Amino acid sequence: MKPSEENEPVKLTVLECQRCGSGFVLTSTYLDWLARHGLKIVQPILCPTCMVRHGPSPKHSGTVKWFRPKKRYGFIESRSGEDVFFHRQQVVDQNGRAPTKGAIVRFHVRETWRGPEAWNVEVIPQHTPADAD
Ligand SMILES: [Zn+2]
Repeated sequence: MKPSEENEPVKLTVLECQRCGSGFVLTSTYLDWLARHGLKIVQPILCPTCMVRHGPSPKHSGTVKWFRPKKRYGFIESRSGEDVFFHRQQVVDQNGRAPTKGAIVRFHVRETWRGPEAWNVEVIPQHTPADAD
């Protein structure tokens, strides 16, 4: 299990941990760790220390209110009734499909200057029973 060190450029993206506020660098090691723990995360919102200690922050759930494929963004209506902005880039879908209206999604929320924004949006297959309340 040796990654190809020569071909893969190391991405040095500095992110801010949403829990402790410290900056951390997104390394391939960290992404490997996330993948090994079954976390399909586009962009982690917790530093490795917080992630190991607390696990990923709980995901919110909701439904896609609308999505404009041309503009590549849309809004999710969360269960709490709040409208949350999301960008196509943040949608995790193995089949590469765009989210459609009414799709059930799970997502992290990050506060931005524009308001709440959804991160790591995971489309829940409709035929799979979601966690019932
Ligand atoms: Zn942290």
